[in-house]
Amino acid sequence: MRKKIVAGNWKMNMNLPEGVELARSIKKYFQYNNSLKADVVLCTPFIHLPLLGDILKGSNISFGAQNCASEHSGAFTGEISCEMIKSTGATYVIIGHSERRSYYLENDSLLYKKADLAIKTGLNVIFCCGELLPEREANIHYGIVKRQLEDGLFNLEESNFKKVIIAYEPVWAIGTGLTATPGQAQEMHNYIRKLLLSRYGSKIAEETSVLYGGSCKPSNAGEIFSMPDVDGGLIGGASLKSDDFCAIVEAI
Ligand code: PEP
Repeated sequence: MRKKIVAGNWKMNMNLPEGVELARSIKKYFQYNNSLKADVVLCTPFIHLPLLGDILKGSNISFGAQNCASEHSGAFTGEISCEMIKSTGATYVIIGHSERRSYYLENDSLLYKKADLAIKTGLNVIFCCGELLPEREANIHYGIVKRQLEDGLFNLEESNFKKVIIAYEPVWAIGTGLTATPGQAQEMHNYIRKLLLSRYGSKIAEETSVLYGGSCKPSNAGEIFSMPDVDGGLIGGASLKSDDFCAIVEAI
C-alpha cells in the first residue's frame, strides 16, 4: 500500500514566532485525533527547521525544507546544503517547485543533481512537476510532465526511488484559486504512474505516492483525494492556517 501524505509548503511566510505557533497548533490538533490516515509533513523556511524537532516531538508530524543546494559544501555563499538540512532532524525536502523553476531558473539537470544529492544524504524528496496554462491549452501538458520527470528524476537508481514522492502541481492552479478538476488530476496522476511503470516497473509504480498541489482547500480536498491515483496533497496557502491545513489532512 502506498503512503498517503499531506505536506504543507509554507513558502516564504511566517517569521520565527509565527512559525513556532503554527507548528504547535498543528501538533496540538493531531494530539487529540487518533484517526490520522496520512503522513503529515511541514515544509518550512530554513529558519524554523532547528526548532521543529523539539516542537513536534511526540507527534507523527515530520518536517522538511523547500529547497537545497546542489553541491555538498564549500564556497557557495547563501546556500543551505542537504547535510545541514538533515542535521536539524528534517527528513524531507521539496525539489523542483514551479516557483524555483520560474523565478530562479532551476532546470531539469540542476533539479536532478539536487534530488540525487538529497536522497544520498538520506532525505525524502518531494519532486514537483506540472505544466503552465498555455501548455495545457496547447494540449502538450503530458509531454511537459514527461520531460520534467525523465530529465529531472528518472536517472535516479531504482534503489533510491523509494525516497521519492512526486507532486503534480499544474502551475495555473498554484495560488490562483483555480483547481484542477478531480478528473484532470486523476488523468495526469495515472499518466505519471504509467511513466513510473515503464521506467521502474510495477512495484515502484504502485508504491510511489503522487500528490496533487494547486489551490487545495478544505472544500475541495476530499473530492480530489478520493481519486484512485491521488495519494494526498502538497498544500501552499491553506497550510498557513492551522484549521484549514488540519481539515485538509482530515479529508484523506
Ligand atoms: C504550492 O505552492 O505548492 C501550492 C500548491 O500552493 P497553493 O496551495 O497555494 O496553490
